[in-house]
Amino acid sequence: MYLVSACLIGVNCRYDGDNNYNEKLYEMFKESLLYPVCPEVLGGLEIPREPCELITIKNNYEVYDINGINKTTEFFRGAQKSLEIADLIAVRGVIFKERSPSCGVHYIYDGSFNKNLIEGKGLTTSYLEDVGYKIYSENELDKLEI
Ligand code: SF4
Repeated sequence: MYLVSACLIGVNCRYDGDNNYNEKLYEMFKESLLYPVCPEVLGGLEIPREPCELITIKNNYEVYDINGINKTTEFFRGAQKSLEIADLIAVRGVIFKERSPSCGVHYIYDGSFNKNLIEGKGLTTSYLEDVGYKIYSENELDKLEI
């Protein structure tokens, strides 16, 4: 069983109420190989919601929405709840949506809301990786050990 970003299997949990449907992942979900989570919703944020971006200040994470409202607490809560679920069902890895401030695996936006991509990880990705979970993006499905 892998944890997966819920938007990747078609759940409309994105900030704009849409999803990032991936057919291969939906097929894996139907085979009971995936357990979906949306860290931002688990953290208490609504659908739809204002877009948020992550910035790192002296090794500390902070998250702001496009209006400058600090959403760091909700993002950490979502990361903690995602970790609890991962531990509870003892997932063998995680498949997360690239470029998200929660789920990004290799790239995130730089916090300027100007669509500038930088190398970096989402907050939940870092949280799970720090305790040893292997994280794959939706572009790395060929690396999964099923
Ligand atoms: S937080 Fe993750 S699961 Fe939720 S919408 Fe964003 S990328 Fe998808």
